[in-house]
Amino acid sequence: MKVAVDKALCSGHARCNAVDEDLFPLDDLGYVEFDTAEIPAGQEGPARRGADACPERALSLLE
Ligand code: SF4
Repeated sequence: MKVAVDKALCSGHARCNAVDEDLFPLDDLGYVEFDTAEIPAGQEGPARRGADACPERALSLLE
């Protein structure tokens, strides 16, 4: 599984990071710092919760 962030939608709420700071690292301004990241095996649950927590729907999970 991978997670992609739409940088045009990400508004720096940091709610994804509050779910899991390792899966959703933020830059100095509070925006998700990656474009696409691999989700380690076993971390699918937090990845889904983090994506669901984004009020902007900026995070997409790619199976
Ligand atoms: S992806 Fe969503 S929850 Fe995470 S920092 Fe961006 S806007 Fe906030």
